[in-house]
Amino acid sequence: MARIIAIANQKGGVGKTTTAVNLAASLAICERKTLLVDADPQGNATSGVGVRKDQLRYALYDVLIDGRPASDVILTDASLPYLDILPATQDLVGAELELVERRERERVMRRALEDARGSYEFILIDCPPSLGLITLNVLAAADGVLIPIQCEYYALEGISQLLNTIKLVQQNFNASLAIDGVLLTMYDSRVNLCRQVAADAKEYFGARMFPTVIPRNVRLAEAPSFGKPILLYDIQSVGAKSYLAVAQELVRRVEGATLIPRSLPPVSGEVPAVSIEGDA
Ligand code: ATP
Ligand code: MG
Repeated sequence: MARIIAIANQKGGVGKTTTAVNLAASLAICERKTLLVDADPQGNATSGVGVRKDQLRYALYDVLIDGRPASDVILTDASLPYLDILPATQDLVGAELELVERRERERVMRRALEDARGSYEFILIDCPPSLGLITLNVLAAADGVLIPIQCEYYALEGISQLLNTIKLVQQNFNASLAIDGVLLTMYDSRVNLCRQVAADAKEYFGARMFPTVIPRNVRLAEAPSFGKPILLYDIQSVGAKSYLAVAQELVRRVEGATLIPRSLPPVSGEVPAVSIEGDA
């Protein structure tokens, strides 16, 4: 049974999609059967794994609004046998509006993923940059939330709003929703501000912080224009190694420390700061 993880932060451009795509690919490389669900009308996760949006017959809209089975819409990724994708297109903007009229409108995503759940070990859902009905649906469907935080001014502003939304979802639709992790993205240890954001986030989230941070890495920014996760674009890059390390930590958290990992590729070399504290 898959663990369903929402990648959420209503702030735009903080690395949600980059995290969803590259974490999904990293889990797949670790032989965890993974489904990447694109729940953002921008469709960046879809194009980020090389799916041509203009050639899609069906997408998430058809699953949520027309009740088409997810299995009809899910695509396999020829280059990563353990990775599947449930794509999104701009139509999804309409779903946000059409869902308003529905009975139990916050539970549509949960029902839509019920059948697929048995076929995967991880389902990662890339959320749009809002706390609208689609994000509520994702949170109501998820077991855990992964919050990417960009190291920038006002990084933590808005986080309390996200945490309030998570609380609301826990109280009303999904009591067992957990925070699976908080991930610092676009980290640059040379920048004082980054270290300050890391320290503040660590104080706030404690053990929920991932010990690995994602550095600012140009290869991570380039890979989407080739329609490839970083692992298939430049496996030697610090970005690839960092997301692999986060995937391994996620597997550890979800499956338990005692489980012997299946064929995890060794992560070595320039993985950034394992401890974000005192990172001078
Ligand atoms: P949105 O809210 O619009 O959906 P997002 O939170 O999904 O945005 P991304 O699209 O993942 O954010 O990232 C925003 C931009 O920053 C993209 O151009 C992406 O390529 C770039 N980016 C993300 N992470 C990194 C990184 N670690 N290093 C360099 N560039 C990055
Ligand atoms: Mg995005």
